[in-house]
Amino acid sequence: MGFCINCGQQHPDNIRFCRFCGTQQPGEQLLARLRAEAEQIRMIMQQIQAQQAQQAQQGYGQGQPPRW
Ligand SMILES: [Zn+2]
Repeated sequence: MGFCINCGQQHPDNIRFCRFCGTQQPGEQLLARLRAEAEQIRMIMQQIQAQQAQQAQQGYGQGQPPRW
């Protein structure tokens, strides 16, 4: 069972359109793509945090107070 992304009504899995409001539902492919995008964003954030930590260790911006 899934829930409509628009009206929130419960509907069977693998339907393409909500039978209550007609909104197209995300299919497995879309969900997989969204998961992949979320994973990419998480990896980018981790890279940025790692870079910032590295810069802090290297004394980048020395003499300035730490930002956290
Ligand atoms: Zn709906």
